[in-house]
Formats: sequence, C-alpha cells, structure tokens
Amino acid sequence: MEKILIIEDEEKLARFIELELEHEGYEVFKAVDGREGLALFEASSFDLILLDIMLPALNGIEVLRRIRQASDIPVILLTARDAVVDKVTGLDGGADDYITKPFAIEELLARIRVGLRKNISNNDKANNILDADRLRLNSASREVKVDGQLVELTRKEFDLLEFLLQNKNIVMERTTLLDRIWGFDYVGETNSVDVYVRYLRSKLEEPFGLNLIKTVRGVGYVIRDEE
Ligand code: CA
Repeated sequence: MEKILIIEDEEKLARFIELELEHEGYEVFKAVDGREGLALFEASSFDLILLDIMLPALNGIEVLRRIRQASDIPVILLTARDAVVDKVTGLDGGADDYITKPFAIEELLARIRVGLRKNISNNDKANNILDADRLRLNSASREVKVDGQLVELTRKEFDLLEFLLQNKNIVMERTTLLDRIWGFDYVGETNSVDVYVRYLRSKLEEPFGLNLIKTVRGVGYVIRDEE
C-alpha cells in the first residue's frame, strides 16, 4: 500500500483529503504543522507528500527545502489561490507539482497518481533500469530480463537494445544506429542494423511473445511505450 503524508494545518481539509485517499486505497499520515511534518518524514518512509505552504511552526517552503536535502520523494504543494510567488518559490525549491485551493478531489487524485508514477521511474533511473513491456534492461549490470528470466545478448545486441530503450518513442534511423553502435568509421554492410534487430527479435520477442522493436519502413526502428 502506498503511503502518503499530508502536512496541512487546516484540519477539516486534511481530514477530507485523508478520507478520500483512504477510500482510494492509500495509507495516510497527517501532520498539522511544519515541524511535526518534518519529524514524521524523517521517522518513516513515504511514497508522496502533500505539503501546504502556509504552515505554523515551519513554513512549507522551508519544510520542502529540508525534505529535498534528504530525498527526491514526489511533493505536491497545496497553495492558496493567487499565491503566485509561493508557487514559483515552491517549484524552484524542488516541488514536483502544486494544486491551488480550493480544488476538486478528482484533480488532486490525478496529480497524486502522476506523482507516484514519477517516483517509480525515478527509482528505476537510480537503479539504471530501462524497460519496455515485460522487458527490463539493467545498464549497470548489463543484464536483460524478460518476465524475470535472464536473456544472453552479445555486446552489440545489448548496445543496440539499450540505445533504442534510451530513445524510446523516437524513431532511430539506420545511419544513426550505425554511427552510435558501430562507430563513425564503420565500413561494413549497411544492413548490419537489420541483421542485429533480427537477432534481438529472435532472442527477446519470439520466445516471449513480445513485439518490442517496431520497423518504420524506409527509416529505421523504434521501441514505443505501450498505448
Ligand atoms: Ca495552511
């Protein structure tokens, strides 16, 4: 269950958000001022923080500054209407997003979902993980797994797959792939890219029923996120 910390001194609002989030299946913790919020943040681990800016004891911007010294946890600011300076300061201070009071709960829930997804991809980035569908590539250990099962690739196959994953959703021309994977002084067959894409497909797609690498006719190849 994902854990969300609400730091908000307006108790009725905090209670309302708490009930809605619990209804959505989140585990919720509340703090009524900046100091208590920071203490909770330091004492436990959360997946996302909702942070009011105008707080007693320690204001939200200062709380945010201290959180950012320790963590890149997603933080959504709750700001008063028209407090433009607060929003700018907050985003400069490393907040991921803000929502202006009063807000529709559906909007807050949507932003929380976005924030939590960002958190997962941040963790993957920190762990050197690239993924597509059921495939996960670890750039550090140079391992590729599909459904958790290790797949042996040659150096060139790995490099090609990694480059396509790093440039997900961007169609890569054959010449670009040749330059990047085989080097500028490459003088072999220009169809090497096609040959290696075939190798990758035979190792990664056919055995696992995946369709990862798409051919863009006359141009090159792309790995897209699933729609
Ligand atoms: Ca407040």
